[in-house]
Order: sequence, then C-alpha cells, then structure tokens
Amino acid sequence: MDVYERQTKGFNFALHKIKELKPAAYDWLLKIPAEMWSRHAFDKRLKNDHVTNNISESFNHWVGDLRSKPVLTLVDGLRTKLMCRLQKRKLKGLKMSGDLVPNVVKELNKIKEESRKCHLLVAGEHEFEVQDQNINYIVNLRTRTCNCRVWDVSGIPCKHAALGIFHRRDSLESFCDSRFSKENYMKIYSYCIHPVPDPTFWPQDLEVEPTNLLPPIVRRMPGRPKKNRRKEPGEAPNVVRRSNMVRCKVCNDLGHNKRTCPVNQLDIPLAQLASRKRKTKGSSSQPVAPTKQNKKTKAKSLSQPVPKPPISSSQPLPNTEHGPSMHVAGSTSQPPSNSGAAYLPPSFWRGLGVSPQRI
Ligand SMILES: [Zn+2]
Ligand SMILES: [Zn+2]
Repeated sequence: MDVYERQTKGFNFALHKIKELKPAAYDWLLKIPAEMWSRHAFDKRLKNDHVTNNISESFNHWVGDLRSKPVLTLVDGLRTKLMCRLQKRKLKGLKMSGDLVPNVVKELNKIKEESRKCHLLVAGEHEFEVQDQNINYIVNLRTRTCNCRVWDVSGIPCKHAALGIFHRRDSLESFCDSRFSKENYMKIYSYCIHPVPDPTFWPQDLEVEPTNLLPPIVRRMPGRPKKNRRKEPGEAPNVVRRSNMVRCKVCNDLGHNKRTCPVNQLDIPLAQLASRKRKTKGSSSQPVAPTKQNKKTKAKSLSQPVPKPPISSSQPLPNTEHGPSMHVAGSTSQPPSNSGAAYLPPSFWRGLGVSPQRI
C-alpha cells in the first residue's frame, strides 16, 4: 500500500489490491479514516504531506528519563525542555539566510533537478501541460495547482509546475506557501516560556486548606516497577543487535576468538605471544621516558632488594636444588635478612639433629 499516493484513483487501485491479498487487512484499513494515513485525502489547507506513524516513539525518546518521574516533576521537566527548545529554534531562525526555511530550500533543489526530466507544452500565460513519463499533467500557476496534487497538499510547487515557473523566468521561492517563509518561522518562535521560580519562592496562600499538603500514600506493588514503555500487541520486540565481528583476546585479530585462535593452535611460546600482543596494542618496544608511575616502581624495587643469599669467599656457591644447603648463612646463626622462602629457621635444623653452625 502506497501511503504516498496522492490521487484517489491510485489510492483505490492500491486498496483493491490489498483486498485481493488479504480481505481482513482491507476491512481493518477501511475502519481508519483515509485522511489520517493517505496523502490523497489530506486536508489541502494544512500544506503538509508528511506521513509518520511513530510520533509517539519520537516523543518518548525526547522525553527520556522524565517518563518515569512523578507528575509534577514531569510537567516541570517538560516546561524546561520546551523553554530551551523554543529559544534554540529562535536562534536557528536568526541564522537563516534567504526567505525560506532550509528544509524547503533543499526540497526545491531536488525539484529543480527532477523537473529536467519532464517536457513542457505551453498553453497560455499561466497554463501548461507537462509530460512526465507518458502522463500529462495540467499546471495552472494562477490557481497554484497541478493535477498531480503534490502542490496542493505540500504547499511547494511540484516538478511539473516548476517547469512552467522556469518558463516564465519566475523563482520557485515566490510560489511556495507563505508558511515556509523565514518570517513565519520567526513569528512561531517569537514567544518564550518564562522561567518558573522554585517552589521555595512561591508565596504562601494562608486561605488555602490544608496549608501543608502531604503526598498520597504510596502502595508498593509486588515486583520491580516497570520502566519500559508498554508495547502494542502487534509490535515487534526489541532486537539487540550485536556485532558479529569478534576480536581475539590472544592475538588481537578480528574474526575469531581465544579458543579458535591459530596462535593457540600453533603452540607459540608465551614470551613470543606477549611481544606480539604488545606490538598489536601499539605500545612500542622502545624505552619509555620514566613516567611518574615508572619512578614509583623503580623506587619501590630499590627499597626492597631481591633476596640474595650471602656468599662467603671460602664457601662454594649455594645450590638451591638441595634443600638444606639453601641456608648458607654458614658462620652465623642469624638468618639473612629478607631471605624469604630460602630461609629455614634454626628449629628446623635442630629437629633434624643437626646444628646449623656445622653446615
Ligand atoms: Zn504536478
Ligand atoms: Zn587469535
């Protein structure tokens, strides 16, 4: 069904097609007045051919968080939103160049382009016949009409009329409805919503009873309160679209994950892998100037030296593979400071029946 159809004939044809396809849909559509959804029946005085069926969605989005707020907060929130919006539009109007609003100027440029594909036949000063894809349209510039009905409904000359206007060396702008002028735009936004003082500044009216009005008692219903908009019975559920592009955590490549990573399957040593990772992350292997954090860690490592077993010149190097020989304090019974895991207390040696001095 073409809701963009502007002619009764075309509308009836499309409706008939629907009836053939699905009689139930045809019956359902007949119940809705055509002027609500088909351009051919739009009121000509409106000068607007915009069809939208999701205005509530747009409004919902615009309202945003306010939707879940108590009614007073909601109303005041809407007021501030509108207050700012009006001012924003006013500024936009001041910046406009030319006599028409930018959207209409854009539309006119499109019409200019499209009119080149039509062929003009001049009948008189104001009357033309325009051939467009084997169909002839009648344009009358005096009554500002074309029987394609686009001009009637939208208030902007159609491509057929544009051709006649160009022939007369007139400008398209002068044939647009005055509703699209900058002057009218500025008139709409010439008013503003005045700021409202905070309730603490409101004068107290002593005659009103009760003086202190308490909020109604809230009855909490079971379950978590719903925040989402209630969907229409036939409305499609929200589909979370996830990108099907996976990034591997191992090699940072696209198109596979950690488990199916070719690097993992090749059994590349960890060190190599790490360097690969570093490269892909963009951090160079060149020395980095000491940052604040670097300095900190440096200082830390200095204050905490790595435990080293003290080596006396007369004794052989400690062999960490053999447990008892790890303790090479040798001459002293004092354990080496910070020896960590390598240090075994004297009680250990005593338990073995060996004096730590003897080793
Ligand atoms: Zn036309
Ligand atoms: Zn990988």
